[in-house]
Order: sequence, then structure tokens, then C-alpha cells
Amino acid sequence: MAIVVLGGGPAGATAALLLAKWGHEVQLITRPPVSRGLAVSLPPSCGKLFDAIGIADAIERTGFPRSTGNTVWWGSGDPRVEMFANGAYGWQVDVDALATVILREAITAGVAVEESTVRDQPDGFVLDCTGRAGVIARATRLRQLPEGPRTVALVGVWWRDGGWPVPDDSHTLIESYGDGWIWSVPSAPGLRHISAMVDPQRSELTRGGSSADVYRDEIAKTRVFSAMTADASMIEGPRGFDASPYRASAYAGERWLLVGDAGSFVDPLSSAGVKKALASAWLAAVAVHTAEKRPSMRADAFEFFSAREHEIEQHLSRESRSFLAAAAESHTRPFWDERADDAGDRLAENEDIRRALDQLRSRENWQPVVSPSMSIQPRPLIRGHEIVREPHVVSTDYPRGVRYVRAIDMVALVELAPVTRQVADLYESYVQRMGSAPLPDFLFAVATAVARGWLVAE
Ligand SMILES: Cc1cc2nc3c(=O)[nH]c(=O)nc-3n(C[C@H](O)[C@H](O)[C@H](O)COP(=O)(O)OP(=O)(O)OC[C@H]3O[C@@H](n4cnc5c(N)ncnc54)[C@H](O)[C@@H]3O)c2cc1C
Repeated sequence: MAIVVLGGGPAGATAALLLAKWGHEVQLITRPPVSRGLAVSLPPSCGKLFDAIGIADAIERTGFPRSTGNTVWWGSGDPRVEMFANGAYGWQVDVDALATVILREAITAGVAVEESTVRDQPDGFVLDCTGRAGVIARATRLRQLPEGPRTVALVGVWWRDGGWPVPDDSHTLIESYGDGWIWSVPSAPGLRHISAMVDPQRSELTRGGSSADVYRDEIAKTRVFSAMTADASMIEGPRGFDASPYRASAYAGERWLLVGDAGSFVDPLSSAGVKKALASAWLAAVAVHTAEKRPSMRADAFEFFSAREHEIEQHLSRESRSFLAAAAESHTRPFWDERADDAGDRLAENEDIRRALDQLRSRENWQPVVSPSMSIQPRPLIRGHEIVREPHVVSTDYPRGVRYVRAIDMVALVELAPVTRQVADLYESYVQRMGSAPLPDFLFAVATAVARGWLVAE
């Protein structure tokens, strides 16, 4: 029976393409295509995913505008011009145009596409890729809306003769102000999508105000965008998008997986939605491929997918909250107070690792002992297009196990550690067994093993 993919956005098109390429029969059902008019920024790291999915050439041929970074007005100061590391380029894309490019590749790979609006779960195994609509996510009542403020994005398309007066017009522009933030993505020379992220409860939106008035009022509250749009014209919009975060209590069931935005949505400030959707689709395709090829691995594969989706959502949400905390330092208004969080746990663990690294550097001799609180046990991981069980370092805090830290194999590291007296010896033994490894990554991995209590230095 064919695998059914619901939704033809970036996630659905990608999952369908990969499964068809790996030899499966795939049917994709999606609403008739309409452009939502949503321009989004993709970081340079999406390039690796384009390669892994096999769409890098198709993306290149489409000629989406490239970008060199972000320019940010966080609070009242001067602009912070942030260039992507190593001179890399990101992409500025219409999200539906991106989905169309991937969908075309999927059709070429043999995916059967049906245009219709799905209301109920079809027969067979289903990937729910219907984004915020979340056909299966809602029907199964797995969607969770965290308590807290909601965000609506009002998006207008603007034209300005002679381009925009900013340090680099390829950049995504972000300005925070007391009641929200403005986000602008260039879509063509002279054209910019400008989004106002507002709290519907704190604006006139829920009191019957017109979205056009609210949108103009919000822009008028800003310093930079009010000046920049004064001699520009809005040629489309504003259109409203619900941009409130949500997650799911589980991402896999007997007959379905929740993929991309169908499973979770993180604050657009992270610029990670599409990357998350593509990575989720890739992992969903790997999980389904594994289940079809090796039924005995089915439960492991789906549990692995669900756990990863949960971890990624938690990680990105924490990251967004720490961006929002940075802005909250500049604004003492409810919009920011309600969204800020100081990501304290992660900082504490980084601090433990840094301290362990300092201790290792200051010791001549080192007799590491493997802690009885850790063990080596088989856990699922991805090899090629499949999920397999391989040894991991397992402890109470890491029950799902860890195999790699910065590409250093932790199982090999803890196996070799007890027979060495110095970190330099351990490095040499590791390289002999595993091949070359960057020394800073290796030291970080050893420090991580110490900080997490897997190795105890005597
Ligand atoms: C205001 C805003 C700004 C954003 N900015 C960025 C950004 O800068 N960078 C970034 O990476 N991400 C950004 N995002 C997030 C990004 O757009 C999403 O994460 C991404 O589109 C998710 O892809 P998806 O395929 O999971 O879902 P979607 O793109 O939502 O695709 C869902 C698909 O399912 C179809 N569908 C829905 N319901 C049904 C149904 N009942 N039957 C059949 N088909 C159905 C839809 O037609 C669509 O084709 C932003 C989002 C918003 C709202």
C-alpha cells in the first residue's frame, strides 16, 4: 500500500521526494496551491540539507535572492550588522515557491500528487505535513498550545524607489520596540516583506480594529521602520498569520508521524522553521524507510523520530526565548516580559564543561575511571537512510544514550580512557583507533564526559 503524505509544503514535498527516491510508492494529497505571500529567511546551514535531500541544483536554478546576514536594531541603539560566518550566504524565499520547487522534484521521482483538502485520516500509513492546520495532530488531540502570549504576524509587501537605506539590502532586518518587533525579508530589488509581530490581546485586533490600521499603528511605534517606510508604498497586504508557538505531546503513533509544522512551531524569530521542517521530513523519511525495510526496528525508529522532534522543538524554543530575553533587556513592557527566559540550564551545563576543560588542561597526569553510573548499551541512531541499534553511553540523565559529541565517538572515548594516564595519550589512542579528530573537539568531548560524570578523573 502507498505511503500517504498529507500537505505539499516544504516538509511534505521533501518527505515524499525522499521516500520515492528510496523506492517506495508515495501518494501526496495537498490543497490546491495558493501563494500565502510569506517570504522567509533561510540560514546558510540549510545548504547541507539541500544537499542531503538532493535539491541543491534545483534551488540554485530557481535563483532565489541570496543574503549575507541580518541587521538588527535591538532596543534603541545603533544597528548591529551580523554577517554569516565565513562569508556564507543564506536564502530569501517565498515559502510556497520553495515548496513548488521540491514538489516538482518529487513528481519527477514518481510521487503521485492529488489536489484536495483532507478532512479525515486516510487509510494506510500517513505523514501529517499539513503545517499549522495539523489534520492528524488536532484529530488525535496531541497538539499542545503552551500557556502564554499569542503572536500574530501582519505582513505587508512594500516597494521603495532606489532600494532601502540599510547597510546591506540583502539582509533580513529586525527591529524591536516596546510592543513587539518588526521583521523584514527582501524578495526582489526594491521589494520587502515587512511583518509586524503583535500580541492580539494587547492590540486593537481582538477589539475589532482593522488589521490595516493596527499594522500601520505598529510600524508608527518603531524608530527605524517608521522612517524607512515614510517614503515607500505598501503594494500588498497586510495579511495576517498566526505565529504563536505550539508543540505536540508525541510525534509518532501506530499509523502516523507528525512532520514539520504539523508537529511543532517555534517563534519565527529563530529563522529556523523551514530548516526544522526539512530536517523533520528527512528524519521522518528515514524512520518510515526503516520501518518498511526492517519491521523489527519499527517501534525503535518511530520512538527515535518522536524523541528527536521533541528535543529539537525544546532546543529551538529555548534559543528563541534567550533572543527574546536579550530584547527584553532593552524594553520594560509586557510584550517582552512575557516572552523572556534566561535559558539558565544550558548555560550551567556549558559552565560545567568549561570548568572540566580548565581542570584537564591544568593536570599533568590523569587517571580516568569510568563511573559506575554510566554504561554502554545499544540505542537507535541513523546510519545512511536507516535507523539501527548501536552502542551508546547511557546514564540516568541521558537514558536515550549519547554516541557522538562534536563528531567524537563517546563509546570509543570511554573505552580507551581507563588505559591512559594523560589526555595527550588518550588523544593518540583515539586517533589510532578512529582516524583523525580535531583536537579542540576531542578536548570538548573529554570535558563533556567529565562534566556529565561519565569519567571521573583521579
Ligand atoms: C510570519 C511567519 C514568518 C516566518 N518566517 C520564517 C523565516 O524567516 N524562516 C523560516 O525558516 N521559517 C519561517 N517561518 C516558518 C515557516 O514558514 C514554516 O516553518 C514552514 O513553512 C513549515 O513547513 P511545513 O511544510 O511544515 O508547513 P507549511 O509550509 O505550512 O505547509 C503545509 C502544507 O499543507 C497543506 N495543507 C494544510 N491543510 C491541508 C489539508 N487539510 N488538506 C490538504 N493539504 C493541507 C498546505 O496547503 C501546505 O501546502 C515563518 C512563519 C510565519 C508564520
